Amino acid sequence: MGLGGGMLEKEMKHVKIPEIRFTKLFINGEFVDSVSGKTFETIDPRTGEVIARMAEGDKVDVDLAVKAAREAFDHGPWPRFSGSERARIMRKFADLIDDNVEELAALDTIDAGKLFSRGKAIDIPSVAGQLRYYAGAADKIHGETLKMSREFQAYTLREPIGVVGLIIPWNFPSGILFMKVAPALAAGCTMIVKPAEQTPLSALYYANLAKLAGVPDGVLNVVNGYGPTAGAAISSHMDIDKVSFTGSTEVGRKVMEASAKSNLKVVSLELGGKSPVIIFDDADVDEAAHLAFLGTDDMRIATDEIFGPVMSLMKFKTIEEAIQRANNTRYGLAAGIVTKSLNIANTVSRSIRAGIIWINCYFVFDRDCPYGGYKMSGFGRDLGLEALSKYLVTKSVVTPIYDSPWL
Ligand code: NAD
Repeated sequence: MGLGGGMLEKEMKHVKIPEIRFTKLFINGEFVDSVSGKTFETIDPRTGEVIARMAEGDKVDVDLAVKAAREAFDHGPWPRFSGSERARIMRKFADLIDDNVEELAALDTIDAGKLFSRGKAIDIPSVAGQLRYYAGAADKIHGETLKMSREFQAYTLREPIGVVGLIIPWNFPSGILFMKVAPALAAGCTMIVKPAEQTPLSALYYANLAKLAGVPDGVLNVVNGYGPTAGAAISSHMDIDKVSFTGSTEVGRKVMEASAKSNLKVVSLELGGKSPVIIFDDADVDEAAHLAFLGTDDMRIATDEIFGPVMSLMKFKTIEEAIQRANNTRYGLAAGIVTKSLNIANTVSRSIRAGIIWINCYFVFDRDCPYGGYKMSGFGRDLGLEALSKYLVTKSVVTPIYDSPWL
């Protein structure tokens, strides 16, 4: 299943190179140049050619984007809309993505080297699907009524956490963007997105569609730029309430340090991994090997920074040994098990410390299935209803059941 030269050529026949319409920053509903006027090149990784020059945001631009997002959060309609109104706009946003699927898939192909056919058939439609999934949850966000131990009662409100910074890696410029944008929108947050500097194009296209769908100005801002400047300005900002980061463990640590040294913003980290596939001797070895190869071929996030079809094969004798060796890593992103035995599958899936376990399959994701790491693969979950909680905060409201002596 490697992407041989012939296959790549065949693929590319279907790609209509899109006109690059958006290269500026997107702040408060407008496309604007960076304050410094600086730009950087985005490169087509297939050819090494320059696709476009992009506005390069840094701290000053992040400040402007945060100001817009704060204003939209504190005084704008988005957090104050009913959940169903937010959902209506999110569904319109999803419809516009469906209408522009070819152009979006082509942008990720030229900018990130993604397969166009896969982008068109799976990646971009699943982004629209994520918006619809969380739109379905937007009007079902509610707290609890609590009976307290004394003569008080309480209820909880689940409120949007505020202004959020979303820092995205280059390997899934659309998918990972919407793992964060879709629940954040549903929760009623406002946001600053920092795409990877290698893949700045599609986020701007999505921002324009969000505006056309009716997402109010200031809710979704995009600041392209480099990690140590624009990214660091987000993680150390005093007026951002939460950062959701996907990328390397090394940079994740910096994001957490910056939060600790600034305003203790809430941080969630989706980091690197080193994910084992354990093939037991009751498996059809040819099939299993095919499965394992399939997995590593395009499963770059699971191979600990070895961004290519590389895997090491090791033999084991007992289940206990397999478990021990699978856990013998500082990462815990994912693991695979191939066996016909339900017993082995149950034992091993419960014993491996990783965020997702695939039994007799590999690299299967769904918007309904939470995804994230154990150990140094990070914390916090993207996808599923659990991801919505990352963008919400719980407030308790307490009142006497009977008369208050104070009145
Ligand atoms: P990266 O960590 O180099 O960069 C990720 C993002 O962080 C980019 O937008 C970058 O500009 C930004 N950044 C860099 N320095 C920063 C700083 N000091 N402060 C704030 N932001 C900064 O990762 P990458 O090379 O873009 O992506 C590949 C990495 O992402 C791999 O390590 C891979 O394992 C990981 N990844 C993990 C998952 C997951 O779900 N756990 C998914 C995809 C990728």
